[in-house]
Amino acid sequence: MRLHYLPSEFQEALPILEKIKQAGFEAYFVGGSVRDAILGRPIHDVDIASSSYPEETKAIFSRTIDVGIEHGTVLVLEEHGEYEITTFRTEDVYVDYRRPSQVSFVRSLEEDLKRRDFTVNAFALNEEAQIIDKFDGLRDLENKTLRAVGVATERFTEDALRIMRGFRFAATLDFTIEETTFEAMKTTAPLLEKISIERIFIECDKLLMATSWRKGIRALIDSKAYNYLPDMKEKNRELEELLEVLSEDFAFRTSEQAWAMLMICLELSAPKNFLKHWKTSNDFQKTVMKLVAIYQLRQQQSVNKQICYHYGKELLYLVEELRQAQGLEVDYDRIDRIDHSLTIHDKHEIVVKGGDVMTTFQLKPGPLLGRLLNEVENAIVEGDLANDSTAIMAFVGERLANE
Ligand code: ATP
Ligand code: MG
Repeated sequence: MRLHYLPSEFQEALPILEKIKQAGFEAYFVGGSVRDAILGRPIHDVDIASSSYPEETKAIFSRTIDVGIEHGTVLVLEEHGEYEITTFRTEDVYVDYRRPSQVSFVRSLEEDLKRRDFTVNAFALNEEAQIIDKFDGLRDLENKTLRAVGVATERFTEDALRIMRGFRFAATLDFTIEETTFEAMKTTAPLLEKISIERIFIECDKLLMATSWRKGIRALIDSKAYNYLPDMKEKNRELEELLEVLSEDFAFRTSEQAWAMLMICLELSAPKNFLKHWKTSNDFQKTVMKLVAIYQLRQQQSVNKQICYHYGKELLYLVEELRQAQGLEVDYDRIDRIDHSLTIHDKHEIVVKGGDVMTTFQLKPGPLLGRLLNEVENAIVEGDLANDSTAIMAFVGERLANE
């Protein structure tokens, strides 16, 4: 099959293929970009595979960077952009189930395509827009089927991350996992315990952010693979809950929103530890924990000035969206109104600083100063005190007189 036209992302990279070919080697576009081009989806990174060995690739181009030379990847810097060129390779023996113990460079495209995870990820595209499809990936694309290349159990045993990638692609592509592939995912799922959490998190996150995230979660539940993910052991019913409570058409707007909802459904005994076990960044943990806190607050009360000031409109909105998706009462207008009425949104906006209070009233740093500044902040948020230095100093003076 031939693509009707080469999307611009590939057109721009054509001179690279030409140069490699002129040097006497083969070169193709490979990976997810080819799949996405056939599907008419937006293309991210254009990956190139070549029969040239890394040293040979480096000799062809004037500006290159060794980004992963042991895996055969060289980054080529050209006027319009940077391209990763990876030597055709096979991955030999996997002793630890996560990385090949040996990568062998080969001169055959077919050998390279064989080591790829799913048939729809194993296309190559040449400069004439011809698609090379060795594993009937086009038929699978047509049928919206996700099928492992070759013997599924072997492929997942070589690299168990592929199981998570499978759930992720089911969600992002809205594909059904082919039966034998799915059976293999079930039997090899215990190997997920050997995979780095950071990499599993990336796949789960992409899964949750997909429009068809339900498909990915469904496959995760049915395969029982959740038993091998951090803090999800035996959380079958809780994961079902995630599917049940949110309306059919709901899609998460941010990762933090998705993970907060997941955590809420999991009914964790130690919520703080959950994201630590998933090894997410501190910033991510902070935001997700705030969303969970707001969610719980909202089950008991409506938004007030302090809540709005403390958490900010954006996070409150994310929680309201989760409520709306469950048919619960929502407070968007109230949040807008309160947010609009706040004279400060951050304590740095207070015109009087701690230092000013210290000099004016000859105070030393300590609990008293801390308490006074807190009272000032609260009074401004409540609208009982203007954010104006005369008013604030008078307020502090009065408090001190009452001490
Ligand atoms: P995305 O659209 O998210 O970038 P992708 O299919 O391009 O998806 P990448 O992780 O960018 O995925 O990998 C590029 C290609 O490399 C894949 O399409 C697949 O052919 C191959 N690949 C990546 N990871 C694996 C893996 N763990 N096992 C086998 N093949 C893989
Ligand atoms: Mg990619």
